[in-house]
Amino acid sequence: KPHVIITIGMAGAGKSTFVQRINSYLHSQNPPQPPYILNLDPAVTHVPFEANIDIRDTVNYKEVMKQYNLGPNGGILTALNLFTTKFDQVLDLVEKRAETVDHIILDTPGQIEIFTWSASGAIITDAVASSFPTVVAYIIDTPRTTAPATFMSNMLYACSIMYKTKLPFILVFNKIDAQPHDFALEWMQDFEAFQVALASHSGSRDSEGEPTYMNSLMNSMSLVLDEFYKHLKAVGVSSMTGAGMKEFFDAVEESRETYRTEYLPEIERAR
Ligand code: GDP
Repeated sequence: KPHVIITIGMAGAGKSTFVQRINSYLHSQNPPQPPYILNLDPAVTHVPFEANIDIRDTVNYKEVMKQYNLGPNGGILTALNLFTTKFDQVLDLVEKRAETVDHIILDTPGQIEIFTWSASGAIITDAVASSFPTVVAYIIDTPRTTAPATFMSNMLYACSIMYKTKLPFILVFNKIDAQPHDFALEWMQDFEAFQVALASHSGSRDSEGEPTYMNSLMNSMSLVLDEFYKHLKAVGVSSMTGAGMKEFFDAVEESRETYRTEYLPEIERAR
């Protein structure tokens, strides 16, 4: 069975570049393993790869904005909702290709919360994940996440998506050509190292030398994250140079087992 990779990431994290990179990596395998790509972003103006199914072929989000008198986010969300009503047909098309492809890639809207916090996003995610082994790849802008507080909020966001989807999860630290991700791995493995980084950051103590509210809040939250880290994999990649692609696909392969042993029993229970 093919493996579905749902790519999610904050705007600017490099999601489009990443999808392009995994696409060319799979094409360059021997024998080539061209993936089946679904573009779910109605507002994207330029995709550097050929999507097999493209939401833009079905709905014109600018027209949707005009017709329903919506702003850009409302337009994107409504376009996604309209597309979702036809998602059974999309799944049929995907099923027909299931014999011949190894990977199905879902590229989600650049406005991350439109996919992660909408009914449509949940319907699409549940539909693919109940048909195929699925993994979420959460793309992180590594150079922009070196400050402890930013790192923590990014991890909390990832954590909320993981608990919402209940799917196997890979943290993809992108742009390691510009900023190696070893600091992140250290913080994830060593809770005390993260607290030291937090404490040495300015603003962690008030004028009396007491930890600030923000700092003690972050200390407590990092305990929550400690549990979260145990349930996921982290890899460093550069979508620019192609570094880390093999490690990424190794993590994807390993997540099949997690899907089988953790996700499937979970949805069985929920039925
Ligand atoms: P998206 O909004 O998440 O789809 O992000 P894009 O793929 O458009 O990338 C945002 C910016 O990050 C662009 O300027 C890319 O050239 C840059 N970028 C993406 N991946 C990498 C990478 O691996 N290394 C570096 N240095 N820059 C990258």
